[in-house]
Amino acid sequence: MAGELRFDDQVVVVTGAGGGLGKAYATFFASRGAKVVVNDLGGSFKGEGNSTKAADVVVNEIKAAGGQAVANYDSVENGEKIIETAIKAFGRIDILLNNAGILRDISFKNMSDQDWDLVLKVHVKGSYKCARAAWPYFRKQKYGRVINTASAAGLFGSFGQANYSAAKLAMVGFTETLAKEGIKYNIIANVIAPIAASRMTETILPPDVLENLRPEWVVPLVAVLVHKSNTNETGSIFEVGAGHVAKLRWERSSGLLLKADDSYTPGAILKKWDKVVDFSNPQYPTGPNDFMSLLEESQKLGPNE
Ligand code: NAD
Repeated sequence: MAGELRFDDQVVVVTGAGGGLGKAYATFFASRGAKVVVNDLGGSFKGEGNSTKAADVVVNEIKAAGGQAVANYDSVENGEKIIETAIKAFGRIDILLNNAGILRDISFKNMSDQDWDLVLKVHVKGSYKCARAAWPYFRKQKYGRVINTASAAGLFGSFGQANYSAAKLAMVGFTETLAKEGIKYNIIANVIAPIAASRMTETILPPDVLENLRPEWVVPLVAVLVHKSNTNETGSIFEVGAGHVAKLRWERSSGLLLKADDSYTPGAILKKWDKVVDFSNPQYPTGPNDFMSLLEESQKLGPNE
């Protein structure tokens, strides 16, 4: 069995750590030796209002248990202030958990610009601002670990969550690029789609289901991914919750190749549509197709029927 994963003297920034998953991360990492910045704006789950209480309660809890933590009450839109708190209090940052989030669920027909903008601002801009501020420290020390938070809604779509889905799938592309840019500097970035009981899910899921979705059951995977022993699992997407962990990946059909000339018409594609959607011989790409070699092959084909 693997020994206990420790995070002694590492500095962890957890955004939205005043409740739900963020609180579970903060208390766990503190209990394993880390110094934790507990960030939370302390507003409602719809992103209204603010308060210092949410973060303070968690900091007090960590300190009472003998751990080290400081509070930060800034919105993630001001990520540089959150990272500054880590540097001022502890002199470094090793791990960034981009977790803060809000919901403004409404059918697409009734969605306002404000519903759209606020959700993208917190999830997308907030994750960007925190990572952007941490990045120079990560590069300089040749060490950094990032978790971004997606959602099943982003991966698969979800009724009433067009804004949230767009924001959450953005976390996937964002993470994949951070992983590619970061690997040279030992910066590892992964993205999770969690499921857990929190104020976000308590109005959607029945109580007996919620009882079995403890946020603490999302934490172990995050710990594995951000531990210093993980040096190669990066740019990956995981579903995690209810005791289950699974990795997701892109799948590409082997596809249809036609001659790229004047005979490349809508009709020519339609005629062989079954090839476009045939997943019997799939590829699992980590980058775009090699268009130059496809073009070369295409030119060798005869005219399309
Ligand atoms: P939660 O509402 O309990 O936690 C989110 C926290 O973020 C709150 O404490 C809130 O005050 C804080 N926050 C909101 N806006 C902020 C801002 N601008 N700056 C700083 N803090 C801010 O919900 P949760 O379920 O623990 O969600 C955590 C993350 O997991 C979110 O990104 C959410 O979208 C994602 N998620 C959760 C589930 C789930 O099943 N709970 C599923 C998919 C994704």
